[in-house]
Amino acid sequence: MERLPTVLVLGGTTEATALVTGLAPQLDRRMNLIVSFAGRTGSPTAPAGAVRVGGFGGVDGLEAYLRAMPIDLVVDALHPFAAVMPFHAAEACRRTGVALLKLQRSPWSAAGGDRWIDVADMRSAAAAVQHHAPRRVLLTIGRQEIDAFRTITGPMFLVRSIEPADLHGPWTAVELLDRGPYLVDSERDLLRAEGIDLLVTKNSGGSSTAAKLTAAREKTIPVVMVRRPPMPATATVTTVADAIAWLDERAQLSG
Ligand code: NAP
Repeated sequence: MERLPTVLVLGGTTEATALVTGLAPQLDRRMNLIVSFAGRTGSPTAPAGAVRVGGFGGVDGLEAYLRAMPIDLVVDALHPFAAVMPFHAAEACRRTGVALLKLQRSPWSAAGGDRWIDVADMRSAAAAVQHHAPRRVLLTIGRQEIDAFRTITGPMFLVRSIEPADLHGPWTAVELLDRGPYLVDSERDLLRAEGIDLLVTKNSGGSSTAAKLTAAREKTIPVVMVRRPPMPATATVTTVADAIAWLDERAQLSG
């Protein structure tokens, strides 16, 4: 019997979970699936397929992994702000000749009434905060990249993250543990109750955390919007359906 193609999904996003759910009916029949997590949060799980956790050990480690399994197809369904792993995937796939697809949600774009301050990175975002001299900032960039803001002593920062962040430093920071999806009503209430006059966010895209942008627009609150980091030139789709179609086509070719 011929070997089924094995698909590696680089995960850690809602898109990766949706993709795996969508592929579930085909597993063990048309393809095998391995979902890979970096291991930043405790005990990640996938709705189907096998799970592996932890870094591969750079490009060489990933190349060795692709050859050893062996992997036939890779889907990079990483978060748009995962800046390193997409380059490792592109290079390891180039070396091994494994086909690679990027599944990435579209970025948000400003609508009429938005007051976005477009910045390239967290350092520029911190500079924009200082420039605007707000009183109360809602910081929604996760917990890994808050260092750039620790030394800003003027405003109060409400730091919203899924898991507890290390808030030490000269700044005044208050933790808000929460996770999406968020509704416009609750985001509106939060901005009002906390007296927020500046929002800082990454341009993650997607519907789950977009409500804050609508609420900020309604209240004409400026938004410091951090652009996505550069990505390798990889064939890219923005929907799970298109990623499944791509895999279907290739699984057929190699099946
Ligand atoms: P990154 O900076 O691009 O990657 C750093 C290192 O983490 C990589 O070199 C790799 O280690 C390892 N790694 C990353 N993703 C991996 C995966 N899916 N499987 C195995 N190893 C992985 O990534 P990051 O920004 O730290 O993000 C880590 C994970 O969190 C990703 O899965 C991402 O999708 C998810 N995530 C990130 C964000 C964000 O804002 N950055 C938000 C939500 C979710 P080796 O070099 O040892 O292979």
